[in-house]
Amino acid sequence: MIIVMQAGASREDLDRVVARVEELKLKPHTIVGTERTVVAVVGDERDIVGSGLETLPGVAAVMPILAPYKVASREVQPEPTIVKAGPLVIGGGHVGVIAGPCSVESREQIIATAKAVKAAGATGLRGGAFKPRTSPYSFQGLKEQGLELLAEARAETGLAVVTEVVASEDVALVAKYADVLQIGARNMQNYRLLEAVGKTDVAVLLKRGPSATVEELLLAAEYILDGGNRRVMLCERGIRTFESHTRFTLPLATVPWLQARTHLPVVVDPSHGTGHANLVTSMAAASIAAGADGLIVEVHPDPKRAASDGGQTLDIPAFEKMMALCRRIAEAVDRKLG
Ligand code: PEP
Ligand code: MN
Repeated sequence: MIIVMQAGASREDLDRVVARVEELKLKPHTIVGTERTVVAVVGDERDIVGSGLETLPGVAAVMPILAPYKVASREVQPEPTIVKAGPLVIGGGHVGVIAGPCSVESREQIIATAKAVKAAGATGLRGGAFKPRTSPYSFQGLKEQGLELLAEARAETGLAVVTEVVASEDVALVAKYADVLQIGARNMQNYRLLEAVGKTDVAVLLKRGPSATVEELLLAAEYILDGGNRRVMLCERGIRTFESHTRFTLPLATVPWLQARTHLPVVVDPSHGTGHANLVTSMAAASIAAGADGLIVEVHPDPKRAASDGGQTLDIPAFEKMMALCRRIAEAVDRKLG
């Protein structure tokens, strides 16, 4: 249910509504918008029937939320959510770019990449310290040492650090270093992990599982929102299909589809979405043309020597070209890159 407060409702009116919802053993999520304040009520809606909520002072209307994802739904918050983490701004007309290597490998590698992507206009630095790899024999990341190197790169450049957390028990550690916690595709439906990041106040980039529907993605986001963390970004990173010319199939219709249904910003990952460096720039540009609120792109000073995902990673000159093109596309669709 969504309780819409009257424009002139007082703080006391709102507190009374929230208290009544809690009395009914339901969970209130107060969303203060520019035009109206609403209380999204989640829980067993049968408990609301006959509760008299609509008669409380300051209440304009009580309506059902039709979507199964309640707090993520545009029905509850018509204005777009803008996620800010240091210089990184994603949503509401700002197209933020997060760039960096798949994995943090060394001080030289991460600092050189950070400086170069910043100079090209990125505001976020990506880099995996905990890597979820298909094979247990592949490089698993530098773990805490990798996080320390990311923090050094942030100190040098000011970029916001975006890095993956793969397990609930690591959330506290990764949150000490990260400006944005990345939940990887393999973990989109790891509900305990989603609950754990939902309890932090660190921004979250939630990647779509390769076999998950967009509705499942929104319901995964709902776990984080329901925990109290509203700083959530969704990420389309490609899905598994019968196609084999690309590593995954990158469905860009997801972007406007999601934006019509949720206020959360939508980021696209053209690196994992294609798996081929020579396809990344076109798909980055297409993502922005489709209305994406941000990009996350793999960049390495020497992709051939990258410890992971080298084949889909741009080198620095290619990233600079990508940014120049994306800046022009963003302007053409009335958005601002960076
Ligand atoms: C990554 O960003 O390097 C990564 C592992 O992505 P995904 O979870 O989308 O596969
Ligand atoms: Mn990768």
